[in-house]
Amino acid sequence: MSITRAARLALTKIERENQFLKEEKITLVDTEGKIFFEKVGIADRCEFSFIEQMKQLTRALRGKRDNLTHNHPVYSPLSVTDIKTAVLLRLNEIRATTNHGLLHIMELPKNFSVRDAKKATIFLDNMFHIGTPRLRDFLMHRSRFKKDLQRYIAQQMRSPTRKQRKLIEREIGVRFRTLKIEGQEVVRPPANPFDLGETVKMIKQGKPIKMTWA
Ligand SMILES: [Zn+2]
Repeated sequence: MSITRAARLALTKIERENQFLKEEKITLVDTEGKIFFEKVGIADRCEFSFIEQMKQLTRALRGKRDNLTHNHPVYSPLSVTDIKTAVLLRLNEIRATTNHGLLHIMELPKNFSVRDAKKATIFLDNMFHIGTPRLRDFLMHRSRFKKDLQRYIAQQMRSPTRKQRKLIEREIGVRFRTLKIEGQEVVRPPANPFDLGETVKMIKQGKPIKMTWA
């Protein structure tokens, strides 16, 4: 669905403000360009709580097609989780800026129904879902569970390849675009972006990790 002018203007302004933050910050904007949700996470992710996700699902059921933008301090394009979140919440657009001059966008179809979202979720799960941690292992083999969880999270945080994106476009009807941010030079990301792997560190320390984030 093509974005409204009001929403695009609001998103561009937010993206300019948040692009160089060291933590991920997500912002939801409605079709009128109004900000109705903001949240700051850590360097490599920012997640919705269960309640927040339910609230957004309710908005989607009422026919709202909101837009989500966020910054990626670790330079990556849209992640598998970003794509899954956009599909689940039936957003109009999901966008991520990087601090080396790029804006990554995934646009969803105009009439993207609950049924379409379900089908797309199954497709994405089949495409990317490997090594889902099992509850039995959590109870019986704690170390194996931690390893599986780590692998699962790494898989979900990864960005699909160009070929995978083409396949997703064909199957789900979404459209990916990467734009240069006006007035900025696209620079090569550093070999070792700051705080990459913070999530993996948290898992190693045994801190609780939730499964939904953007
Ligand atoms: Zn993201």
